[in-house]
Amino acid sequence: MARNRSRQECWCTDASVTGSHVHRGGGQRLGTASPLRYHSERHSGSQSMSKTEGTSRREFLQWSAVAGASAGAAHHCHASGVSPSDGVRAYRRLGRTGMEISDISFGSSRLRDHQASVVRFALDQGINYFDTAESYTGGTSETVLGTVLKGKRDKIYLTTKKGTRPDTTADEMMGSLDGSLRRLQTDYVDVFMTHAVNEVERLKSDHWLSFVDQAKQQGKIRFAGMSGHAGRLAECLEYALDEDMVDVILVAFNFGEDPGFISKFTKGIDWIAKQPELPRLLAKAKAKDVGVTVMKTLRGARLNDMRPYEAPGGTFAQAAFRWVLSHKNVDAVVITMSSEDQIREFLGASGTEGVAANDIPLLRQYMALNDDKYCRPNCGACLSACDYGVPISDVLRMRMYAVDYGDLGVARKEYAGLSVNAQACLSCSATPCQSACVHGLAINELSVPAHRLLT
Ligand code: SF4
Ligand code: SF4
Repeated sequence: MARNRSRQECWCTDASVTGSHVHRGGGQRLGTASPLRYHSERHSGSQSMSKTEGTSRREFLQWSAVAGASAGAAHHCHASGVSPSDGVRAYRRLGRTGMEISDISFGSSRLRDHQASVVRFALDQGINYFDTAESYTGGTSETVLGTVLKGKRDKIYLTTKKGTRPDTTADEMMGSLDGSLRRLQTDYVDVFMTHAVNEVERLKSDHWLSFVDQAKQQGKIRFAGMSGHAGRLAECLEYALDEDMVDVILVAFNFGEDPGFISKFTKGIDWIAKQPELPRLLAKAKAKDVGVTVMKTLRGARLNDMRPYEAPGGTFAQAAFRWVLSHKNVDAVVITMSSEDQIREFLGASGTEGVAANDIPLLRQYMALNDDKYCRPNCGACLSACDYGVPISDVLRMRMYAVDYGDLGVARKEYAGLSVNAQACLSCSATPCQSACVHGLAINELSVPAHRLLT
């Protein structure tokens, strides 16, 4: 399996395309190999960072000499210890799609009009997989991507998504897809996902199945998928995999979600397994050759909190990426990128196959600093506690967008879309939910200020 093609050479868009082809077959477009020709003028030699498919948990939790050497050898471009990027260093096969995508790929949930240069920079760094959704920044994300990626369509892979309901008709979905294609200035996307799935009924919908068939036949989508970070993710994922209805998934997954990490590194501390089902489901996806992309890898992304603890050449973000990329059932990370500096920092972890020496202490430190305010994606354990039906995990996720990600606009927009918000918390005794969080969050102390901030 061509899981990795790690290299030290960089990939540049000014190089010509080799081996790239897009053609129709049976109504589907068939893929390209990694489309950007690499060259080695800027970096001589190559470095093998091989990883076998059978790598064990023990092996990848061992601190990788390769990663450590890479981090240690890096020179600095920022006071924070962020390493300069050599661009994408590894492309990974995205399951049965056969697409070879950058191991750290472009998330665009906060992409704005003025950020075309960020997309161009990502492209120049060798990122070839761009993930968007019709809802991201009200369609602006797709529009900006479309503008920059126009003329480069055969060099990149595109995924977009739509939030569907069980009763959303196939025509409505097709209308949304057509809108996305217009904004993206293309006639097809590689993957189309039903977005933020939180109930199995959405997946059982005949409308969805019919839409996928039609869209594939018309050559508008190559593969179907689902994304999720809500409380019923495990149940939805199980169903989608059992029914073999997804080629790619995008799920919230990070170091704090894995019982193995918790038990191994938090002895004596009362942290419990967060998402015990997720590792099993990722293994199930892998066994079915479904492509696995992950998000929410930074567990709230409070990057600035961690600057004082970062060792030269190794940041918290890089540690978190190394951890998740070391997981044998993860193909690639999709991470929101907002600036060139951020891309340089993030790509500092590209191509690594194991955690570096300072990574685990950093990840532990992050949890110690933030876990009392971090509402876990995919959790939802408290949802039945509230008599008023407040969607606690959604409210706290939007709080995270505003407070941790610093994006009040997106947070307010999403909050305004909730059918029930946290208004009831303002006058509630909080008795029903005061001990409902299985991770010890004081829900009311977070939901009340969140409501005030978001309205
Ligand atoms: S404070 Fe009251 S209304 Fe708000 S989540 Fe808790 S129980 Fe529900
Ligand atoms: S508040 Fe606690 S129990 Fe509720 S979804 Fe968040 S982490 Fe889970």
